[in-house]
Amino acid sequence: MIVYNFGSINIDHVYRVPHFVRPGETMTSDAYQQVLGGKGANQSIALGRANCKVKHVGSIHSSDESLLKTLANSDVDTSLICQGEIPTGHAIIQVNHEAENAIVLFAGANHQISAEHIETVLSQASVDDWVLLQNETNNIELIIKRARHYGLGVAFNPAPMNADVVKPLIEDVDLLIVNEVEAMDLCGVASVDLAQEQLQSRYPQLKIILTLGRQGVRHIYQNDVIEVPAFKVDAIDTTAAGDTFIGYCLAGMQSSLTIEQVLRQACAASALCVTQAGASSAIPTLSQVTKFMEQVSHDA
Ligand code: ADP
Repeated sequence: MIVYNFGSINIDHVYRVPHFVRPGETMTSDAYQQVLGGKGANQSIALGRANCKVKHVGSIHSSDESLLKTLANSDVDTSLICQGEIPTGHAIIQVNHEAENAIVLFAGANHQISAEHIETVLSQASVDDWVLLQNETNNIELIIKRARHYGLGVAFNPAPMNADVVKPLIEDVDLLIVNEVEAMDLCGVASVDLAQEQLQSRYPQLKIILTLGRQGVRHIYQNDVIEVPAFKVDAIDTTAAGDTFIGYCLAGMQSSLTIEQVLRQACAASALCVTQAGASSAIPTLSQVTKFMEQVSHDA
């Protein structure tokens, strides 16, 4: 089983600043860091570190070869990533002294995934393979439709949420993974329980994973709801918690673990992630997750 992850690859330029730049102001930043980002890339790294076979499908500028090495170092197959002349997607991120951020995002090459490439990739997949996608690349409707055509499983993390774009696509999805805010925005309601009810009644065949931050996670299928609490940790940076969860969850679903065990392992992975600063660098390996779970059950 292979996961084909059609996802964004970004270069994040992170600037530490005393305050956000104001109109007309030029400001020197205290520190600068350039790191690999994008929900797509993060989820591929989580899949790779969870020992799942993952092929990332995406697009970058031809001068950014080093990004491929970073992905490959986490066992992500990069052979389906196209390289061209459009700049790689990137984010200009200001982080102020209160740890708030202000972000300018440029999709760039992430919106260059062609219909031909989608067809080439999906036509070589097997029926037990899965397609994973988020909402940071182009052609998501086509990817879902063609994946359906080839009988592949489709897991959809519609983030960033745009309910008008995303809603019509859910009909064709097997597994929907959303956090609380995304679930409420998707359904246009102000309560997560109401959003869950609506999703259950509107899409009776859909498997739904609802992540609830430090509360943990719910897996919903028809009238069966499984809830798993989050691990208690000292969280210092929750960036990439959801991406870590998704990668470990999809990886676990391909193993012989029960769904409760899958959710628990994914909660453990994302709990470890939030104890580290950074995004993809904070995603743990499977052996780190196993060790953490052994430690927790030993302490209990
Ligand atoms: P997102 O990052 O997409 O907003 P969530 O905040 O729901 O997603 O987090 C995803 C998962 O990460 C949660 O289901 C939980 O298992 C874990 N997690 C998030 N925040 C914490 C926390 N403070 N402590 C422990 N685990 C956490």
